[in-house]
Amino acid sequence: MTSTGIEIGELTWRAVARDLRRLVEQSEVIDSPSELQTYGYDASFYTQLNPHAPDLVVIAGSEKDVAAVIGYAYERGIPVTPRGAASGQTAAAVALQGGIVLSLNAMNRILELDVPNMQVFCEPGVIHAQLNSYLAPHNLIFPPDPGSTQMATVGGMASTNAHGMRAVKYGGTSAWVLGLRVVLPNGQIIETGSVGSRAKQSSAGLELTKLFVGAEGTLGVFTRLRLKLMPIPRAKAIVIGLFDILENAGLAVQAVFQQGITPSAIEILDERCIRAVNIYKPGIGLPEAEAMLLFEVDGNPAGVNADAELISKTIRPRARKVDWSADPERIQRLWEGRAVVGAAIGALRPGSNRAYCGEDICVPVARIPETLRAIQEISQRHDITIATYGHIGGGNLHPGHLIDARNPDEVERVLRVADEIHELALRVGGTTTGEHGVGYVRAMYMAREHGPALETMRAIKAALDPKGIMNPGKVLGTSNELPLLIQSGEEGLCPITQPSP
Ligand SMILES: Cc1cc2nc3c(=O)[nH]c(=O)nc-3n(C[C@H](O)[C@H](O)[C@H](O)COP(=O)(O)OP(=O)(O)OC[C@H]3O[C@@H](n4cnc5c(N)ncnc54)[C@H](O)[C@@H]3O)c2cc1C
Repeated sequence: MTSTGIEIGELTWRAVARDLRRLVEQSEVIDSPSELQTYGYDASFYTQLNPHAPDLVVIAGSEKDVAAVIGYAYERGIPVTPRGAASGQTAAAVALQGGIVLSLNAMNRILELDVPNMQVFCEPGVIHAQLNSYLAPHNLIFPPDPGSTQMATVGGMASTNAHGMRAVKYGGTSAWVLGLRVVLPNGQIIETGSVGSRAKQSSAGLELTKLFVGAEGTLGVFTRLRLKLMPIPRAKAIVIGLFDILENAGLAVQAVFQQGITPSAIEILDERCIRAVNIYKPGIGLPEAEAMLLFEVDGNPAGVNADAELISKTIRPRARKVDWSADPERIQRLWEGRAVVGAAIGALRPGSNRAYCGEDICVPVARIPETLRAIQEISQRHDITIATYGHIGGGNLHPGHLIDARNPDEVERVLRVADEIHELALRVGGTTTGEHGVGYVRAMYMAREHGPALETMRAIKAALDPKGIMNPGKVLGTSNELPLLIQSGEEGLCPITQPSP
């Protein structure tokens, strides 16, 4: 038995660390308890309350080492949790059942840019913003665009099928991954998307790339990604609509699509978000309203201007004020306002915490108006401040809950709020996660979301990972209970349900 309770037979973690140090050539093995603590968190509220340090960390330096570590762990049944930048909000990159955290962020080389074929080969630890800075002088872009661009690794993005602002036009990460090198749970290395291929499309065989993308590290570890690129659009414009009635913002989005326009982004900020941005960065000076919509259109200059005009005309009957601009500086300032909203929300209640839970629902576009109102009703009923923003063009909403995390009553209430928001999404025909993924915190909703298809997912997992070593307890877990936290005397907060096996 070990500190985290995993059976590793006669072995001790000290012996495992020694074995791994002998096995790897370019990687670092960490076993000092104080350093291990820092791997007990990601950006989820769950790990903020329940940090869980792994038994060992390996900072991977090469694919060969990754295969050696996983092969070793497979033989001994030791859990392995892959980790990128840990910006995920679902406890997915934390070893809740102990074992080894395999950190991929030091494998961060861009290996090759193939300009004529518009693709790039890179290691998983490349940071999203760095990739796009590298591509910009070649007039190329990797379009998925998460708010965590300065943190998230491309390996983590592929593993969560991250989306972001531009997904409404360009789709999620899965649309831009052409192939992967994957170390399977038994240590074998495979290449998906046709070995050695540089083709941009293929109908050859089962789409394994799509199976691994979004699997959140439960099926294997990516060691190289082949990513599709596109030219940077020649022009952009932005339309700003201010609304006095929240539902009208949702209706305006539908009306724009009905005009045959696909904006490259449609973002919403509710009244609380606008206020928060203005307190946090007064220089941005967003106009006050019950809701603000930002529509971005991209393409050729003449088309962009025509689309911006048509969007303005379409939303004007429902809006208090509409304005548009193709001025790059103004566009930049407005996106700055949108980019800081996640951090700014805390300014609404000094001393409070932003609780990342129930933060990523996605609902059908036609149900957006009632969903926005229902979130406000949940907020009032539980007396929890919620500021909502999100990628409304795809129906992806981010309710941001503000609480004092030292107050157990508020913690319990916000977890109930999160549960009700997840239930709301399912009730209106949506999903509990539009882009952040399932991890541990949403595993309990998967039976409801997928019905018998969940058993098919589990059968695939069992076929590839019969010993269940890869990121156990995540995505396909069996718990149907809310992992509520309660105050337990002097000991502080503790879970009343245990992580599922
Ligand atoms: C401020 C903020 C804004 C955000 N905005 C967005 C947004 O707009 N859109 C969006 O989609 N997400 C967003 N996120 C969530 C998060 O950034 C994404 O989920 C991101 O893709 C995670 O990348 P990461 O490198 O941090 O991965 P981690 O959090 O480290 O890991 C995420 C998952 O990927 C697995 N993993 C990591 N690397 C590998 C690998 N090489 N092989 C196999 N599995 C691997 C892990 O096991 C885990 O399951 C945001 C987060 C924050 C904090």
